[in-house]
Amino acid sequence: MASSTLTIPAPSGVNPINVIDITFSLANDLYFIPSCRTTPKLSLFIETLGAGQVAFSSNDEIRVNADYIQGFSGDLKKEITGILYHEVVHSWQWNGNEQAPMGLIEGIADFVRLKAGYAENWMQPGSGNKWDEGYQVTALFLDYCNGLRNGFMAELNKRMRAGYSDNFFFELLGKTVDQLWSEYMAKYKTIHIRLFQCSF
Ligand SMILES: [Zn+2]
Repeated sequence: MASSTLTIPAPSGVNPINVIDITFSLANDLYFIPSCRTTPKLSLFIETLGAGQVAFSSNDEIRVNADYIQGFSGDLKKEITGILYHEVVHSWQWNGNEQAPMGLIEGIADFVRLKAGYAENWMQPGSGNKWDEGYQVTALFLDYCNGLRNGFMAELNKRMRAGYSDNFFFELLGKTVDQLWSEYMAKYKTIHIRLFQCSF
């Protein structure tokens, strides 16, 4: 890993994206020790996907929609880097032997993106209707859980190697996932109300 410097070509005037940075983030956020899932080769394809689709990963092949890149009007390098953080996670994370909720899998991918600092224009913490809704909603909730116990995310990922149970949350944090979600929502509801009151 240390000797390879895979980079994503970028338009002239834009610094290329260094995949090694992404790999280090993954190692920090999802693993304590380097005995992670073996992923021999990752491939990236920029191609036309279905309308409205951004990107997806399957069998260690990442596909990003060329039309999405073409139509994106913000900071393109940041956006593509954020997308790659998310998609690369899918090749390294454990999925509870396919028993984990899909929303949790997507939330973990976005958690790593969040921790790497590529969460611009995200929703506020405390958004969403259920903890395993996926993506940003679940990522922000996992960040709250990780704040209760540093290393929670890596511990959860480690337990998801052989199977999955919601009880992992209780084992790691002493509260059920539903309890944690209620407390998380209550915390941010309180903050929103306070902010609202302060505006008068
Ligand atoms: Zn995903």
